[in-house]
Amino acid sequence: MNEIRARACTRCREYVTILPDSPVNQNLIKTFEGKHRGHTIITVDLDEVKGGYENFEKATSEESAEEASESSD
Ligand SMILES: [Zn+2]
Repeated sequence: MNEIRARACTRCREYVTILPDSPVNQNLIKTFEGKHRGHTIITVDLDEVKGGYENFEKATSEESAEEASESSD
């Protein structure tokens, strides 16, 4: 079984998926933990946060791609 875990801030209701083999992901988790310093960060199964929590990774990439998505549709 391959259980995917996530780091989640219960205060902001944001999470980041944990990918143990990805250095990029390690940096993203550090960024996440830095942003939510002093908040309650928990490690949970991805299934527990999916839906109820905002994906930190997605939110970050959407911010930088905001202009590009303007012209679609
Ligand atoms: Zn937070």
